[in-house]
This record gives sequence, C-alpha cells and structure tokens, in this order.
Amino acid sequence: MKLIISENISRYFAETLVLLFFPGSKFPAEGDDSGICVELTVQETVGKTTGLAVIRTPAGNWQGTYTVPVHVASRLSREMQCKTAAGGAMLLAGKQYSGIMPPWGMLTGVRPVSMVLDMLEQGMHPDEAVQRLCEDFFCQESKARLAVRTACNTQPLITRAIRDMCSVYIAIPFCPSRCAYCSFVSFTSERLLSLIPEYLTALCAQVRGVFDTIRRLGLEVATVYIGGGTPTTLNVSQLDTLLGVIGECWDVSCLQEFTLEAGRPDTIDAEKLAVAARRGVTRISVNPQTIHDEILAAVGRRHTAADFFRAYQMARESGIRDINVDLIAGLPGESREGFVHSLEAVLSLAPENLTVHTFYVKRGASITKTDEKIYRVQDGETMAAVEDASAMVQGAGYMPYYLYRQKNTAANLENTGYALPGHPCLYNIYMMEEIHSIFGAGASAMTKLVSPAQGEKKILRMSEKKYPYEYLSGKTADVKAELLYQSAADFYRNFREKEKHL
Ligand code: SF4
Repeated sequence: MKLIISENISRYFAETLVLLFFPGSKFPAEGDDSGICVELTVQETVGKTTGLAVIRTPAGNWQGTYTVPVHVASRLSREMQCKTAAGGAMLLAGKQYSGIMPPWGMLTGVRPVSMVLDMLEQGMHPDEAVQRLCEDFFCQESKARLAVRTACNTQPLITRAIRDMCSVYIAIPFCPSRCAYCSFVSFTSERLLSLIPEYLTALCAQVRGVFDTIRRLGLEVATVYIGGGTPTTLNVSQLDTLLGVIGECWDVSCLQEFTLEAGRPDTIDAEKLAVAARRGVTRISVNPQTIHDEILAAVGRRHTAADFFRAYQMARESGIRDINVDLIAGLPGESREGFVHSLEAVLSLAPENLTVHTFYVKRGASITKTDEKIYRVQDGETMAAVEDASAMVQGAGYMPYYLYRQKNTAANLENTGYALPGHPCLYNIYMMEEIHSIFGAGASAMTKLVSPAQGEKKILRMSEKKYPYEYLSGKTADVKAELLYQSAADFYRNFREKEKHL
C-alpha cells in the first residue's frame, strides 16, 4: 500500500484511517506491489478546512471530499480540524470503494470511552456526548450510546483516592498450546515450557522488588492482575509459590481485587482453584470463546465446550468471588445464530463478568498464513452478532464498564466488558483509562507510571524484555528494583512539587 499525505496530517492517524478499509495493510516508505495507493490531503483556508481522499486501485478510483462544518470547527483545535477533515474525506472515499461506513466512524487509534469521560468531566450532558460522537466523528448512534453508557458507568469509580493508588500486573507468558489467532507473546513448545521453573524464580524476585518499590514510594495497591499467556499453565505448586510470594509482599485481603487469568479450561483443576481461593484471589477468568467444538478445534483451542462447563462449575464451587467469561464474535465458521447460542449458554451461568470480544488477528498469528481473507471489513454476520450481544447482555442486567478497539478487528468493531452491578473488573478500568500507575513484572510486562493529578496526564512507560529467555538473561531483580524506584521517585516528585504550587 502506498500512502501519500499532506504535512498537516499525522501519518499514524492516516494509516489507522486507511486500515479501516484495507485491514492488514503495511505502509513501506516506497509503497509495495499491491497496486493500491491512497492520497490524503487537507487544505486549510480562512475559516475552512477541507479534506480530500483518493483511493486508486487497479479496478478504479474513488474519491471523497469533506469540509468541516463551521459549528463543528468552532469547537475543535486546528489539529483536530485537520484530523476531522482527513477522517471525513477518507470515510466518504472508503464508503464509495467498499460500500460500508465503519461503525465507529473515524474514531480509530483513540479510546472512545476516554474521550467521553473527558466530555463528561467538562460538564457535558450524556445526550450531547452521543450527538458529538455521531456528528463530529461519524460514529453510528448505537456505538456512540454504548461508549457513553460505558463512560457513565465508569465515571463514579474513578475517584481522587483511586488516582493516588496503583496496581500491579504480573505476566506468565506460557500456554499449553497455541490458538491459531494468537499474536501474544506466549510460549507453548515443550522446550520453552521447560523454562517455567527458572522463569518463576526470576519472576518472584522481581515481584518482591516491585512491591518493595511501591512501599518505598508510599503508594497503596488497589488491584493485582496475573495475566498471560495462561497463568494456570503453572502447576499447583508453582502457582502456590507465586501467590504465596505476593501474599508475603502485600496484605492481599486489603486489595480491591486480585485477578488470576485462568483462561484456558484445559489448565484448570480443583486443586489450583483451591490454592487461588486460599491465597486471596477474588476474580478468575474461564474462557470458552465459543461453545461449538468444531470451531474450537478449527482455531486450535485444545479444549471442548464440556471442558469449559466443567471448569466453570469448579470455579464456582471454589468460592472465588467473581468469574469472568470471554466470548469472541466473528470466529471463522461461527454464524450469528451460533454466537447467540454461545451467549445464551454463558448467560445461563450468570457469571459476574462477561467480555464480548470481536475476532481480531495480527499478522503474526498462524491463521493469517492460511487464510488471507481473515481481515474482514464487511461482515454483516459479526456486526449483527455484536449488536445482539449488546442487547441480550444488557437485557440480562449487565452493564458495560470497559470498552476498547483494536486495528484489524472484524468489521471494525469493539471489545466490551460487561459486569453485573457491583462487579466490574476494576483493574481493566484503571489500566484502560490510565487512572493510576500500573507496575509490571515478568517478560513482556509494561510498567506505566501515570501522573496522579487530574488534568493534563503525564505517562512514563518502561517495558520488560519481550521473551522469557531475554528476560532471564537481563538485569538482576535487585538492579531492576533500584532502577524502577529511582525512575518512579523522580516521576512522582515532579508531580507532587507541581501540585504544591497550584
Ligand atoms: S490462550 Fe490466549 S495467550 Fe494463550 S495461545 Fe490462546 S490466545 Fe494466545
């Protein structure tokens, strides 16, 4: 794909717009041999900002022009006017080319709920926020309403006290086998799984360093989240060791939430669940993705629907407070009816959390090597399935509390976390909305320091090595802890001093 843009448009934004219609595209500087070229320009004249998009393909050319209306321009910065002009033009050209208007309009590469939270903080009425999303960004009304409802449910949970706290993320990048759509860092081969004992030793040392740093900084921990991969790939004694170390470092009974992703039903047994419950875990995920065995087999998940129901029942009997269940809409081979069937089965279990993902793949996933049509822009079945899910889940008493979008998602749809009242996953909110610092431990984990004050947000990211073997050959836990403390202490000192002068 060749992409030509004018100087007043951000390249990243232009690429995300093009991906709405050409998912999976790459943008090498000299173009490629696909024969497709997109030209995106914005002209600024006095009182007028106009975007022009031209899509050239071997089959023909398509063009879109969009002038930002005066009443919209009056509330936007110059940069946003250029983005809106470019976005509007690209959507119109793309609609002519593909026949579809993406459901989230030009809201790409941004977090819609964060935008709405900003609007609500400025005192805007939720109905006006819906109107803004539709008018300014070409958002479908049902999507605008979902974003605003999610923000309204989230807003009361984001207090000043929470902004002053932090959370901890611990990564276990191992799984028993690899799903065909997976693009995460997750190790499944026997040779790599044999690294687990060594990895666990290094991880536990780093976990101690992270909690020690948090204590030295004078912070309180709100939530702890053990994610992956699939953390329950650890055996009972390894899991007990890790949870035990966390318990030695922090009084987990004071946490708002302590999540253990179990994810794959084929890694769950009653013993592991008993250890998790005894060590203070309050939330666990058990994910079928679909309850249709032929689809599970086709996407390389080595478990059946019966395994899921068995694991779910064990999780319920363990007494762990909250159970999350993930489903994926738009899995290859799953119809709208099939998805609704999966959803009905899951709803009948009444899990506290239900996360509806839309099928999404990155180029690294093995499934893209066998089916290039995997990136689907036009996918009425999945669109309908996601709309059905929204209505059914909310009709069953769940509230949307967390929503995010990714590139290369079927039909440019979203992922939404729903919860029964009083049970939202707080970590997901704090992490997604960057409410407070998240300290990471383990391969591929990221520490994200977030300025504690409201208003202009400052963020400092520190990434861990991506792969376990790199992680194991990196700095020692003591060195990492000292570096983390120095960086975080500087970061917090800056903001506390600024606040004093306000
Ligand atoms: S369970 Fe998740 S992390 Fe593991 S292979 Fe499957 S998609 Fe990847």
